[in-house]
Order: sequence, then C-alpha cells, then structure tokens
Amino acid sequence: MRLTLTAEQVAALRSHAERAYPQECCGLMVGTAIAPDHKKLVAVWPVENTWSEDIAEALQDDSTLPASHRYAIAPQVMLEAMRAAQSQGLDVIGIYHSHPDCPARPSECDRRLAWPRYSYVILSVMQGQAQDLQSWQLDQTEQFQPEAIVLSPPPHATP
Ligand SMILES: [Zn+2]
Repeated sequence: MRLTLTAEQVAALRSHAERAYPQECCGLMVGTAIAPDHKKLVAVWPVENTWSEDIAEALQDDSTLPASHRYAIAPQVMLEAMRAAQSQGLDVIGIYHSHPDCPARPSECDRRLAWPRYSYVILSVMQGQAQDLQSWQLDQTEQFQPEAIVLSPPPHATP
C-alpha cells in the first residue's frame, strides 16, 4: 500500500487543515491507481465538514463541548465528486481529514466509517500548526494499517 503525492499537494492539505483549525477539516483525494497497491494523488478537493454543522445546530451555543473531532461528507457531495472524477478519467481514491490537537492516528469512529481500498490521510494540527501527515488503509480484518507515502518528485532524485 503506497500513496504518491507531490509537495504542493502536501502543502494544500496542510493549509486546509490549518485554515479549519480548531475545527476538523475534510476533503476528497482524487487520483488514479498506478499499480494494484499503489495510488497516485492528482487533485485535492476540500469539502465541507457537514458533521460540525449538525453538531453546532444540535447543541446550539454549548461552548463547553470541544471543537468537532469528527467529520462527515454529505452523500450527495460524494456522489457528485465521484462523477466529476470519472469524467476526468480519475477516481476518488481516498479521504483526508485533520485531527486538531490530536495525533495523526485514526479514531475508532474513523475506522468504523472507513471504506475498503480508500486511503485515509490524517493530518495532526497542534495549536494551529499542521504537523504529521499519515495515510491509513483498512486491511482484510478492517483494521487500519499505515500506508507508505511517496513524495513525487522524490526529495533527492537520482539521475
Ligand atoms: Zn479522525
């Protein structure tokens, strides 16, 4: 399991995560499979975190609750993204979201909501600064395993 992305894409993910802080951001990763266990990211599509809106509505101005640490993507948004990706010969290959003031490790909620074969990139944002970024994918037993991230072009390209 490998995920190839560019330094610009990493910067886009980090900047979205920092803009959303202290809320959790989320978005879709669009790309293509370049081998059975190797995906290449082509575009990052930030989407609205509909979970936090629901929470805010349900809880009104209850400020004692921590900022949303969950995310949700509306099914309609997901469907439209899949269609848009396919029209460009691409696929939705995964979902990214941030963990404000928490490590870049998936929560139990993340695991239960995860789909097989998707890459789940989690960004840790500590005090507004994006830190680690880790990709995860479910294995056969529906447990998250870390997915290797390959930077393209490699930091030290050899001729
Ligand atoms: Zn999470």
